[in-house]
Amino acid sequence: MSTLPDYSQGVAYVRGQYVPIGEAAIPITDWGFLRSDATYDVVTVWDGAFFRLDAHMERFLASCARFRLDPGRTAAEIAAVLEQCVRLSGLRSSYVEMIVTRGQPPWGSRDPRQAVNQFYAFAVPYVWIANEAQRAQGLNLIVSDVQRIPASSVDPRAKNYHWNDLTMGLLGALDAGGDTVVLRDAAGNVVEGPGFNVFCVNAQGRIVTPAEGVLEGVTRRTVIEMAAALGLPLDLRALPADELRGAREVFLSTSGGGVLPVTRVDGQAVGNGAVGPVVRQLVQTYWDWHRDPRYSQPVRY
Ligand code: PLP
Repeated sequence: MSTLPDYSQGVAYVRGQYVPIGEAAIPITDWGFLRSDATYDVVTVWDGAFFRLDAHMERFLASCARFRLDPGRTAAEIAAVLEQCVRLSGLRSSYVEMIVTRGQPPWGSRDPRQAVNQFYAFAVPYVWIANEAQRAQGLNLIVSDVQRIPASSVDPRAKNYHWNDLTMGLLGALDAGGDTVVLRDAAGNVVEGPGFNVFCVNAQGRIVTPAEGVLEGVTRRTVIEMAAALGLPLDLRALPADELRGAREVFLSTSGGGVLPVTRVDGQAVGNGAVGPVVRQLVQTYWDWHRDPRYSQPVRY
């Protein structure tokens, strides 16, 4: 007697097939694995609906173009695969990833132009970058001495797997008793961390986030739009580490949890050490916007 596959832990789309997440595999010779030669994007499903799928798709196709990778599919075809992954899994809240890898050139060739690019996707249960206690009390963010890969070497606007700087920085931060890490550029300005953009409400009450040297996060874009809608002043410019340390409020933005409060930087309290009013307002608005049909697209389960 045949049993149906167990899709409850998630579903992947690999080589044209939908498989349970635990059975998904890629060839070991794919340059996506051997050389981090890939791009990807992550969109979320919350309460049965995609959040800002169009914005993620737009960024994914732009990332593909920057890295000269071809998904071999239209945006509508990619969206259909993502929806099918979620539908099969039955997940109401999900972390949904789309990937294009370089694939591999014919044996003997080292010419990336000859590689056959590969498209993969998967849907798994929603991923939070911060746990419940951290979301309630705020994170301890460590400013790392590890420098972020220069934007002139790997374009951070194309979402990529060049994470060794972020991972080494995170390990150092965890060793130091922090919860997570932010890296700096060569000039000493903070840029981003493993899976998130960073913001502060500075001593003058203005929201500041780095303009350059970062992934243009869809959540970052949402924060910029929320600030405009709420009448909160926001500047896109370089953010020195000392301005972050002296800020009234600090927060992270990510598809892995939205707006996440930071209440300590390098172990020192930000402001009075409690989650501040601007962060609270942005968290509330972020989740409210999940019910706004401008941004939310129901999954047809
Ligand atoms: N920066 C980096 C390096 C990331 O990997 C991510 C997301 O994974 C972000 C920023 C935040 O982007 P988004 O808000 O689109 O999730």
